[in-house]
Amino acid sequence: MRKESMPWRSLLAAAAVAGVLLMAVFRVGGCRRRGVKEENFGVMGTLASVAAGAGEQERCSEYAGMALARMREIESALSIYSPTSDLSRFNAAAGKGLMPVGNHLRMTLGLSLVYGALTQGAFDVTVGPVVHAWGFSGGRKPAAPLDEATLEARRALVGYTNIVMAEGQCGLARSGVVVDLGGVAKGYAVDVCCRELKAAGARNFMVNLGGNMRCHGRPEPDRPWRIGVRDPLRPGGTVGRLDLGEGMAVATSGNYERFVEIEGKRYAHIIDPRTGRPVSGMAGVTVVAPSAVTADALSTGLFVLGPEEGMRVLMFFTNCAALFVPDKPEMEILLTPGMEKIFQVESALAGRVKRLR
Ligand code: ADP
Ligand code: MG
Repeated sequence: MRKESMPWRSLLAAAAVAGVLLMAVFRVGGCRRRGVKEENFGVMGTLASVAAGAGEQERCSEYAGMALARMREIESALSIYSPTSDLSRFNAAAGKGLMPVGNHLRMTLGLSLVYGALTQGAFDVTVGPVVHAWGFSGGRKPAAPLDEATLEARRALVGYTNIVMAEGQCGLARSGVVVDLGGVAKGYAVDVCCRELKAAGARNFMVNLGGNMRCHGRPEPDRPWRIGVRDPLRPGGTVGRLDLGEGMAVATSGNYERFVEIEGKRYAHIIDPRTGRPVSGMAGVTVVAPSAVTADALSTGLFVLGPEEGMRVLMFFTNCAALFVPDKPEMEILLTPGMEKIFQVESALAGRVKRLR
């Protein structure tokens, strides 16, 4: 996860940014409506919330307490910032064979292998050494944009096929390889929390971890959970809203929230593993999927691929839909066929919508 265990000052700054995001989300969303109770808390370096609807409002604190405990547990296993986390021990043992790891790390590594293959390497958790070199995930911001020789050396360490899983153990094939789960851990945590809440009898609720959301049941008997999609080009605005069905999840990857500024130019925190460079050309990608971990990984992968290549990998993801906003002055909102069915564009932006085929 990207911001966990950060100093408190940074955490508060992050919380303020995330707060703006959540406000944008919930202004359109169901949570401000009468009848829905919501609790917010900070964890995994970002803001989380749990909302309880339709007849379960009085259990909201209980739901939030369960989610917070589970998210903290996942943070302590998957944090790249904590030297004692399962992930840090695993990275430190790169090139030294297989080792036993905890459930959360084994699950996220396995899922990352699958998403790596399905996105043809656009989503690649071994992008860690490059992410670090650009100044993210605890790395120091470089004084100048990284040159080709530096990138080539870092790229040589990237490749999800370096993750080895055998006989219930895991390892990294070469020393120097670094796994960074920032593009998948929050979605995974949301799914784990939802499963646990359902097992405890919860039916009408939503879990949100830094914009990775999953919804169950309804906020009110007669309406679905409704999520506002933030406008990546105009801070504070939304491009439209999504109606989410039972168990559906949504995640957004954007270039507007986390970036470094080098020599006056902004560089986004999502790296194209093929070049080692921060992705340019996309402002935001929102994915709706049947699980939060899929939405999380796929939004990162599609951010790298863009709409054209993205459409080709989307055919391997059942019941997933995407919305792309390219980074250009003339706004375009590109929708996949599945997204067209659940997305309601802001009326002022109706002329900006295009269909992807
Ligand atoms: P956010 O964490 O802001 O919700 P994402 O889910 O898109 O955004 O994840 C971005 C994070 O994922 C980065 O901060 C980095 O840790 C990691 N990352 C960057 N590029 C890639 C990539 N191509 N594949 C997988 N993970 C990536
Ligand atoms: Mg992601």
